[in-house]
Amino acid sequence: MMKIGVLGLQGAVREHVRSIEESGAEGIVVKRIEQLDEIDGLIIPGGESTTMRRLIDKYHFLEPLQAFGKSGKPIFGTCAGLILLATNVQGRDTSHLGLMNMKVERNAFGRQRESFEAELEIKGVADDFEAVFIRAPYIAEVGEGASVLAQYQDKIVAAQEGHYLACAFHPELTDDHRLTAHFVKMVEESKKSLAC
Ligand code: GLN
Repeated sequence: MMKIGVLGLQGAVREHVRSIEESGAEGIVVKRIEQLDEIDGLIIPGGESTTMRRLIDKYHFLEPLQAFGKSGKPIFGTCAGLILLATNVQGRDTSHLGLMNMKVERNAFGRQRESFEAELEIKGVADDFEAVFIRAPYIAEVGEGASVLAQYQDKIVAAQEGHYLACAFHPELTDDHRLTAHFVKMVEESKKSLAC
């Protein structure tokens, strides 16, 4: 069975573990660097990206997370996790993990719409996915090699680049586990190709 970690420093951790388990893999809360060696893929959850970054620095997770991604193991960043994955965050001179080639903008849907739900078509995943947005960012631009999986009001809200997956919404907060299941499949495929 695939073992998929959820970075457990802050944010919607338990809900992701439940969604991973509903998708047929084992979910593990990752709180220590050594645990990265035990898992086949990682979800970086939503929360607050600057707070999460502070905790990543405090517990010396930055380089181990970058090495995890560069080793070819899949990472799925949701909401704040998407911001942490991006190579370019608007308004910042430096990125956080800087692993996935895209430019993101924080709190993109304005204060008047702190949270809302919308039905999305997610390429290859679902054409009726009920997505929960909470102070969501959006992807202003994806780089070469990345593909857009979903848009909402002309804004990119989900994308994939090889073994990196990112979405601006919270796929763990409903009973629709199809996007998590898509990630589990990415992890299965990468495990097979990393083994040979
Ligand atoms: N706006 C938050 C940030 O900048 C992300 C919100 C979320 O993860 N729900 O980190």
